[in-house]
Amino acid sequence: MNPSQTVPCATCGTPSEFFAKPVGPFCSDRCQLVDLGRWFAEDYRISEPLRPDHFEAFEDWDGTPRRDPDAQR
Ligand SMILES: [Zn+2]
Repeated sequence: MNPSQTVPCATCGTPSEFFAKPVGPFCSDRCQLVDLGRWFAEDYRISEPLRPDHFEAFEDWDGTPRRDPDAQR
């Protein structure tokens, strides 16, 4: 693997050394944040609408954290 390999920034397309920085395929931490914010925004937007059956698992939940819903029955 070539340590000096350059890749286009995932946000602005500016070529940068992938392994030279801790920000991954981005030219700067700012572009990393931009991409992250965009990813979150799109993720929330395309997520399916909540349906009643999404809450079935919480119907008898008393508010305390538990790993196995059937363990206390
Ligand atoms: Zn960039």
